[in-house]
Amino acid sequence: MIEARMLIGGDRVRASDGGTFDAIDPFTAAPWATVPAATGSDVDAAVAAAAEAFPAWSATPGVRRAELMHALADAVLADADRLALWETTDNGKVIRETRPQMAFVARNLRYFAGYADKLHGRTIPLDNPAVFDYTVRRPYGVCALITAWNSPLSLLANKLPPALAAGNTVVVKPSEHASVTTTELARLATDVGFPPGVINVVTGDGAVGDRLTRHPGVARISFTGGGPAGRRVAANAAERLVPVTLELGGKSPNIVFADADVDRAIVGAVAGIFGAAGQTCVAGSRLLVERGVYDRVVAGVSDRARAIRLGDPRLPETEMGPVANRPQYDRILAVIDTARDAGSVVAAGGGAAEGASLGTGLFVEPTVFADVDPGGALAREEVFGPVLSVIPFDDEDEAVRIANASEYGLAAGVWTRDLGRSHRVTNALEAGVVWVNTYRSTAAQAPFGGTKQSGYGRERGEDALTEYTYVKNVMVDISTEARDPFAIRT
Ligand code: NDP
Repeated sequence: MIEARMLIGGDRVRASDGGTFDAIDPFTAAPWATVPAATGSDVDAAVAAAAEAFPAWSATPGVRRAELMHALADAVLADADRLALWETTDNGKVIRETRPQMAFVARNLRYFAGYADKLHGRTIPLDNPAVFDYTVRRPYGVCALITAWNSPLSLLANKLPPALAAGNTVVVKPSEHASVTTTELARLATDVGFPPGVINVVTGDGAVGDRLTRHPGVARISFTGGGPAGRRVAANAAERLVPVTLELGGKSPNIVFADADVDRAIVGAVAGIFGAAGQTCVAGSRLLVERGVYDRVVAGVSDRARAIRLGDPRLPETEMGPVANRPQYDRILAVIDTARDAGSVVAAGGGAAEGASLGTGLFVEPTVFADVDPGGALAREEVFGPVLSVIPFDDEDEAVRIANASEYGLAAGVWTRDLGRSHRVTNALEAGVVWVNTYRSTAAQAPFGGTKQSGYGRERGEDALTEYTYVKNVMVDISTEARDPFAIRT
């Protein structure tokens, strides 16, 4: 068994009371690592260490911060095979996805390292030429970074690099369901020379995250997870007026128009919902299809769904692994049963997947429901699993209306060859990310985040830097004449 350790003030530590919990491999359903269960005083110690490290780190020249970030990117790449394997072991995501995710982690570190010495302010000409005005961007201090279990390192790679580049120090809290690789990243950071306290990791359950987000020493919060915990985090942040970024769930529409390259759209629909066993916030879980190609798309997606190779997520040929943990597995199967009982049409899958190659793994069949009522629970609620709802539509207006009739607003896909339509529909969609003739594409430079109940704030790209800095405006009176103390100075 691997023994994970937290990182507090540069030391790799156990919980102060010795408490641990097991990390479970969802393919074997067996424990494979032990993880410290942080106590309240561990959280306090991590925040204190980050606070102590902040003055020196924020005063460190950007070029040096960048060097360390590049060194960490190098270390991640050098260790990418192991990190990917461990992440796959922890959450069941197939190695063909976790391995490229490690390259993405390194890419994000390098992208934001490039900004570390370029966080310029502006000089601003005022009405009064005797006042010289300029801005500087300042880091907040200690940032609490909380991630979900579905992609621990790649979610952290959206938060950690901009926070560090801007001169903040951090306390990271990964999910109890997949913590190990985050503790390994922290180890690599120490190895490459990050000063003690700049990066701290505490492990444990939601109570640890709650304690962290209520901590008076935390100046900024970034959270990725579900709506219920997100609301509690936002309430904690509001209590202390601390700014917060929320990356929450979705029920994203993937819209196929009859004029699209239908074969490509079918591949995009499959990638959108069955990639990562549907356990991604951007899952294209509502497939809206124009009636002229509806039967063809339902048949194509269902055929491909039935052909998906389930199996050991560590094997390169496996296309879909188990779902990540038992509560998740039970929940997805319950959603499928409820939908079937409510009369939804099962076009593919529809239950637990079993077989010799699947062992004791928590497998769910890639499932397609056709003719789904756009107002019903299946079309409204996030499943976070390999369950697709296909909904027919008649024209562009109806497609947009159905797409936007959701409390969420994270992502959307549009499949069309009509340039005008792609712009019209993209413009009308209430979503933070829209893909045209592709789905689930990602880039370090491209901002990511949601609207409506999918959260607020942006990760990746230049926009992410504004989340980790505040603007300080400075006015310098360069005049020499006497001033009236009671007149407003403009
Ligand atoms: P949760 O909201 O349960 O957990 C997210 C993180 O928050 C975990 O580290 C969790 O710890 C922690 N946490 C739980 N309760 C609290 C609390 N009261 N205060 C502070 N932290 C807390 O989400 P899931 O792990 O179930 O992840 C699935 C959800 O995440 C889905 O809704 C999905 O859409 C969303 N998601 C969003 C993404 C985005 O970028 N928009 C990306 C990926 C997922 P622990 O797990 O140990 O309980």
